[in-house]
Amino acid sequence: MRIVPNLGNVLNHLKEWFPHLHLPELPAIFGLDATGLVAAKGAQVHGIDVGQRVYVNPARYCGGCRYCRAGDTTACEYYSFNGYFGFGPKSQRMFEDYPYGGMCEYMTAPQYSLVTLPDAVSHEAAARWGYLGTAYRALRRAHAGPHSTVLVNGISGTLGIGVALFGLALGVRKIYGTGRNHQLLAKVKAMAPDRIETHSLDEEPSIGEWVRARTGGEGTNIVIDALGPGAPHDTMLDALSGLRRGGYHVNIGAVAGHVPVHLHEIMDNNKTMVGSVWFTTADGQEMADLAETGTVNLSVFEHEVFKLEEVNRALSVLKNRNGGFSNYIIIP
Ligand SMILES: [Zn+2]
Repeated sequence: MRIVPNLGNVLNHLKEWFPHLHLPELPAIFGLDATGLVAAKGAQVHGIDVGQRVYVNPARYCGGCRYCRAGDTTACEYYSFNGYFGFGPKSQRMFEDYPYGGMCEYMTAPQYSLVTLPDAVSHEAAARWGYLGTAYRALRRAHAGPHSTVLVNGISGTLGIGVALFGLALGVRKIYGTGRNHQLLAKVKAMAPDRIETHSLDEEPSIGEWVRARTGGEGTNIVIDALGPGAPHDTMLDALSGLRRGGYHVNIGAVAGHVPVHLHEIMDNNKTMVGSVWFTTADGQEMADLAETGTVNLSVFEHEVFKLEEVNRALSVLKNRNGGFSNYIIIP
């Protein structure tokens, strides 16, 4: 499984920063993004075999409400991340149904949560599926494709690199990305020098101006905001000003609180603003398909492996991470 850099924040600051979210009652077993082999299966499990390599999507939902039955499982009132946190008071029930997070040697999981992994996806890379999937779903919601240009706010972070990788895989023509660390921005650009351009937030001009100057004055079709916790509103608004008429702004980052948005401008220009959370197992399987055909390049990640008993030390070094390229993994 992967230790998400945000786990420390979730454990220490969740109630204070995000009071609408819910932690499991303690004691609890944490751990997101588990991957492994199917060790045993229930009598009513078909299509999944013992010994199969899988990624376990931690998204849990009731399966029986109107929204789950209609296939919009993210809209479920029980929607929760197994081993992490939930989105409402009903989440505790999901934690009780599925008490084992990724920091375990064995866990139980519903068959709907399993992404089967091709040989092209290592367990180390699959442990990255959660944040990559969040990026992938954001691109799909914005209808990204060969006709698109995309601005990624925070491109060198854990989510931003996923947007760049899957944007390239989906055929996006040009990807513009912002960040602070020049070395990391150069590394991002090196993934596809002809299709990625980067801009440091420490330099002039503003993001909107910078991206409009590169798109004939129009801006991009898509802006994906992947800023980390504590990022200021101004950076998001600046990127939003680089969105062209008819475009999509998708927020997957952690900018919190009330952001003043010029709604009349959004309406007049037929723009869409949407918050997007996580991804479905179907999305995850499509990502595995893209990896199987060699369409997405997962070789850019630097895996750092810890043993399960080293988890506290691992959490303490996450602050020094090498941007989104670092992939911290626990292997029991
Ligand atoms: Zn439901």
